Amino acid sequence: MRFDIITVLPSLLESPFAHSILQRAQKKGISEIHVHNLRDYAINKQKSVDDYPYGGGSGMVMQIEPFALCIEKLQSERDYDEIIYMTPDGTTLNQEIANDLSTKKNIIILCGHYKGIDQRIRDIFVTKEISIGDYVLSGGELPAAIVVDAIVRLIPGVLSDETSALSDSFQDGLLDAPIYTRPAEWRGHRVPDILLSGNEAKINEWRDEQQLARTRERRPDLLND
Ligand code: SAH
Repeated sequence: MRFDIITVLPSLLESPFAHSILQRAQKKGISEIHVHNLRDYAINKQKSVDDYPYGGGSGMVMQIEPFALCIEKLQSERDYDEIIYMTPDGTTLNQEIANDLSTKKNIIILCGHYKGIDQRIRDIFVTKEISIGDYVLSGGELPAAIVVDAIVRLIPGVLSDETSALSDSFQDGLLDAPIYTRPAEWRGHRVPDILLSGNEAKINEWRDEQQLARTRERRPDLLND
């Protein structure tokens, strides 16, 4: 799976993809992540990519030309399944969206800055708008990294069996059960006996109960869905 991320701050995206599971996925050739500097597509000598908003008001607006040039160049090289704009007024990211996107082949992600991007970019090019939550960040880079991480770990072959994504929270509509490792007792705090029993059927039953109880307590809305 291939991601092309368009940003004015490429260096902000170096670290998130250079470690752990995301790094491994790229080394294995399962995913490719290409970061493009929007300023390379600026249409003026100053390499600026933003301008004052029509109608006045505070904040700068990212212009259509640089985004259009970069998107069209990418589209001339391959077909894209989605062009995603990271934006607080988009659909809030959840596991279902990540699952769906993990089946795609080529995705472009646009990172906004300042006040955001010219509405025409959204109307003409963007096929999906995703928010990472009801708060406003200064740029779309961290949200883009979050979306890529959520997707890539779901692609078959990326995670090893021990970290299988299928047992994670939300995958079956429930939160995950509590987890423990050695020591079995720490300052009088014991791991639940059942987990030390070796009885796999009972352990699974306990985990199911815990998942349900935790979901009922913390996220009853998931059960209503
Ligand atoms: N004026 C916009 C916010 C702009 S913030 C508004 O009120 O909706 C600048 C950029 O940061 C946005 O263009 C977007 O790409 C990114 N961004 C900020 N918060 C985000 C969020 N919660 N989810 C996804 N992207 C976000």
